[in-house]
Amino acid sequence: MYEYNEIINKLILWYQSNARDLPWRKTKNPYHIWLSEIMLQQTRVEAVKPYFQRFIHTLPTIEALANADEETILKLWEGLGYYSRVRNLQKAAQTVVGEYGGNLPADYFALRKLKGIGPYTAGAIASIAFSLPHAAVDGNVLRVMSRLAADPRDITLPATKTAWEEELTSVMPKGEEGTFTQALMELGATVCLPNGMPKCQGCPVREHCQAYKKNVVLQYPVKSPKKQRTKEYLSVFFLVDQGNIAISKRGEKGLLSALWQLPNCDREKAVPVALRDWGIINGEIKRMKGQKHIFTHIEWHMDCYFVAVKEKEGHTFLWLDRHQIEKEYALPSAFKKIWQEGCETLEEEIK
Ligand code: SF4
Repeated sequence: MYEYNEIINKLILWYQSNARDLPWRKTKNPYHIWLSEIMLQQTRVEAVKPYFQRFIHTLPTIEALANADEETILKLWEGLGYYSRVRNLQKAAQTVVGEYGGNLPADYFALRKLKGIGPYTAGAIASIAFSLPHAAVDGNVLRVMSRLAADPRDITLPATKTAWEEELTSVMPKGEEGTFTQALMELGATVCLPNGMPKCQGCPVREHCQAYKKNVVLQYPVKSPKKQRTKEYLSVFFLVDQGNIAISKRGEKGLLSALWQLPNCDREKAVPVALRDWGIINGEIKRMKGQKHIFTHIEWHMDCYFVAVKEKEGHTFLWLDRHQIEKEYALPSAFKKIWQEGCETLEEEIK
């Protein structure tokens, strides 16, 4: 682009007096920066803060993360969603312990080889923790750059992202790599906001912004429309037998893979048939509130049932006391409201 030196200097000065006070910004510890970047993918800063603190407190080193059992890491992640992130984090931690003595490598390309670390995360760790000249380009940064340059390229295309990664890497300011990375992220998160809401009046680089100068800010970034989400219709069951609640493990592949869940089936299947297939011979069925949960590409529409089991055979599910499940098992957010209502109904039944 043009005028990079001025833009970078202004951004850095602005960042130094306007950066939000976030726990992972108080350190250059590469593990903390890595963890925060993984948690922040698809998740708001305010939501991440308590998770970050708790995770660091429980697993203070990469080695501790590498050696933790799966239920512990899933429980620490419970409610953040996209659980493959924490599984990959642990696999990468095991590689770091095995190959690098427990310290993240200060090398962009070595970072890229670790599970779950793509160009953005590698760029963020390399520049922030190790002051290496590698840009970190995510949706926020793409939006900012697209507007600054009035760039007509579609930001959903990988080629556009790669081009911006290369361009920003080539202009990284020596000695201020991490500050520049964070300044761009911060501008995207607090000033150059999405959905037609940029706060241009408070923008430190307004006079260099091509979209602002031409009064066409709302035309950027250019992006192709998102695909429609697929709708799936399910029946979900809160099954109770003598105070114990049934949970089951999902399959190894696909959405929420290998996570614990409330038993469920396709809505097409009649409720009594589903129950019989699970070995529930007799039970009292109550309808609960229907629920909807939105994932990135899929929507779940759920009919929900509370079933007080009177007679069952076989061992289809894991039956556990409510408090044990809440303490030791991570239940994805999709089931949380059903869980809550089921527990309240159970308390009513006991009274
Ligand atoms: Fe974004 Fe407005 Fe600043 Fe341009 S002037 S970079 S559109 S906030």
